[in-house]
Amino acid sequence: MKGMLCGILPILLAGSAIATVRAAPAPREAKASAVNVTPVVASIDNLPIPVKGSDGLFHLVYEVNVVNVTGETASLNRLDVVDARSGRTLASLDAAQIAQRLSIASSRTSTAADLGPSQMGILYLHVLVHGAAALPAGLKHALTVTLKGQTLVETIAPAAVKPPTTLVLAPPLKGRRYVAGDGCCDSIRHVRATLPINGQLFDGQRFAIDWEQLDAQGCIRAGDNKTPESYVIYGQPVYAAANAVVVAAVDGMPNSPPGALPANIRADEADGNHVVLDLGHGNYALYAHLAPHSLKVKQGQRVREGQMLGRVGTSGNSSEPHLHFQVSNGPLPLASNGVPYVIREFSASQRVTSTAAFDKATEDGQPIAVQPLDGPSRHTAVLPLDLSIVDFTH
Ligand SMILES: [Zn+2]
Repeated sequence: MKGMLCGILPILLAGSAIATVRAAPAPREAKASAVNVTPVVASIDNLPIPVKGSDGLFHLVYEVNVVNVTGETASLNRLDVVDARSGRTLASLDAAQIAQRLSIASSRTSTAADLGPSQMGILYLHVLVHGAAALPAGLKHALTVTLKGQTLVETIAPAAVKPPTTLVLAPPLKGRRYVAGDGCCDSIRHVRATLPINGQLFDGQRFAIDWEQLDAQGCIRAGDNKTPESYVIYGQPVYAAANAVVVAAVDGMPNSPPGALPANIRADEADGNHVVLDLGHGNYALYAHLAPHSLKVKQGQRVREGQMLGRVGTSGNSSEPHLHFQVSNGPLPLASNGVPYVIREFSASQRVTSTAAFDKATEDGQPIAVQPLDGPSRHTAVLPLDLSIVDFTH
């Protein structure tokens, strides 16, 4: 292998290999048997698990790690996501759309779809599929790259698609007018929260939701923004989403003062007071930022679906009271990868208009801006999508 690498990389890095790249035809789709020198290489660490959202569509949320292995800037002009079996194009991104989804050097957004010399980026993809029958068994990606004035099309990141999630959970909260903040599938603060932990990249928050609650007037809080009790959701009980075993139950941390994220918080304090449930089959649910001394369960304890675990607070890395709820594939929330799930039953007929409106309502305490959702309001076995306003009253 050393010989093969030595044979290709020095040529690319010297910049003189562009002629070699150009000499090869630039096929829209390279033959499986072909050997193509590619200036950008890519991999998918976590195979997509489709989930049916509250819009009735299946959502594939995954990341492609892209690395420019040359000494020149590589411009990513176009990406086509293709059903590997049928060849059908499922999604196409132009350069501007790639830039919006490309994270470089820990920045969650990028201004250009360029990778500098030897630079790595993470491309956060969200592919919509209409109906289970149309779900692909595998994906491949056609990436159009321009480097030193030459353009070629690479086939990158072949990936199997896992079966759609069968993880059906009960709601983590009960009551009305909960907002699914920073939820699936294009919000940035959770979906793009990839972290380098223990020597590898993890995105534990890929499908996380920050739940807030509105009062009858549509306000997230009534009263002083520095007082946890001003927020409608503060103190709400949180419930086991399934029969489970408690693998972590941490209590005793104070609430962080609302209004801003706390400074210099340690990674192991980020979740504040929290509970992690082992749901079985490698799935773990996290309830984070709970109120001080509110936990009702202990590590090692078995809990039944619907059992109270604690109360919503604002401990840890939290800027206002909310419930951070996620499911991931390991017991350590930051050192595991987020997986999708569905909620057995809920109602939603409105959504908040934007993340900016969500943030504004948190800051100014005024009624939140909403818009109606299409379709029936009652939902079964789907994931509440970003900014849905949800009733858990069934
Ligand atoms: Zn969160």
